[in-house]
Amino acid sequence: MKKVVKFGGSSLADANQFKKVHDIIKSDKDRMYVVPSAPGKRFGGDTKVTDMLYACYDIAAAGEDFTEQLAAIKKRYEEIADTLGLKVDLDGEFKTIAEHLSGTPYVDYMASRGEYLNGKLLSAYLGYEFIDPAEIIKFNENGDFDQKATDAVLPERLSAVKNAVIPGFYGSKADGSIKTFSRGGSDITGSIIARGVHADLYENWTDVDGFLVTDPRVVENPAIIRTLTYREMRELSYMGATVLHEDAVFPLRKEGIPVNVRNTNDPSAPGTMIVESTCTKPDYVITGIGGKKGFASITIEKDMMNSEIGFGRKVLQVFEDNGLSFEHTPSGIDTFTVYVNQNDFAPKEQSVIAGLHRLTNPDLIELESDLALIAVVGRGMKRQRGTAGRIFSALAHARVNVKMIDQGSSELNIIIGVENADFEKAIQAIYDIFVTAAV
Ligand code: ASP
Repeated sequence: MKKVVKFGGSSLADANQFKKVHDIIKSDKDRMYVVPSAPGKRFGGDTKVTDMLYACYDIAAAGEDFTEQLAAIKKRYEEIADTLGLKVDLDGEFKTIAEHLSGTPYVDYMASRGEYLNGKLLSAYLGYEFIDPAEIIKFNENGDFDQKATDAVLPERLSAVKNAVIPGFYGSKADGSIKTFSRGGSDITGSIIARGVHADLYENWTDVDGFLVTDPRVVENPAIIRTLTYREMRELSYMGATVLHEDAVFPLRKEGIPVNVRNTNDPSAPGTMIVESTCTKPDYVITGIGGKKGFASITIEKDMMNSEIGFGRKVLQVFEDNGLSFEHTPSGIDTFTVYVNQNDFAPKEQSVIAGLHRLTNPDLIELESDLALIAVVGRGMKRQRGTAGRIFSALAHARVNVKMIDQGSSELNIIIGVENADFEKAIQAIYDIFVTAAV
């Protein structure tokens, strides 16, 4: 087996975390390629090294004295190196960074140093080769990830090494300049490497036991999803649940490589497996519940709307003209409703109403604000009669008024619109009926 293992910032925040990571890697010889993030928060209120680097860059770019800020960053690495007795030339590394900052600094280079230096420490600690991703992860001139250029170098370079540490988050353009992914992008590096070496498994180590059935800020101590498909994950992350960077999914899906989300602080927990498809039955009828607050709805009423060809197109045209994307469009015989993000909609409200009057000649336009959308997601719902019935009776018992229902035609999700004020209550009620009541 060939495994690529990525460790997030909290997993490598200090020397103690480094020890856990070391033991995890050494306990399984299949864990061949290691992708570290920059040191994250050590405690609540602490600052991630990446944020410190961005702040340091801002100071330098403004032409101000950055020495104090850079020294604080250096201290984070020194603490790890000193405690673990690692021989890495941090003085030399930081001299190079200071020289860069005194010249013509650029932000991607500075941000990337968080992963770069953590990779240096980890490779010394593990005794594995250090491979700079600038060598093997390639970006095009526009700053987009370049799969072809990467394919031309990455597989060959790694085929020659059994074990290596490859920092996450960045690569380089053809001119040699450093380019980072968006924030949280070490996940993407890990997935690109997993694809490049045809890994059997991509382990993504973080500080949670896996993907949770729902938001722990809404439901206390929610259950963990043991197996999740990529499509389910997409539905849940769209609705706010994030454990893995969205862009990390594509390379893995293409190769059919499963991801195992694991907890560095509890390596005995099996975590969540994310797979293309599976025969494994979910533990509960539903896999997860996601949700977002802050929507507005615009309902257009017009007699005989159903027979007016092009009506829907005209409505959506108005939203397009105003640069607004829509979330859902539930419709009735003579009504058509559009759900949009409330903050985006507010400044354009009057222009949208005017546009709708002009283009669609409605009988009535009704606006509602402070709405929330809840997505109940699950591959198991397809085979189960009465799922929708159970959801709505649970909501009725909890005295939640349902404003909208939309079942995706894939039967993978049911989207429910409620008032913002009912959001938490509704999620708790759905969770209880499917999960609490099932155990
Ligand atoms: N260190 C980077 C960030 O904070 C990338 C990562 O951790 O994945 O966004």
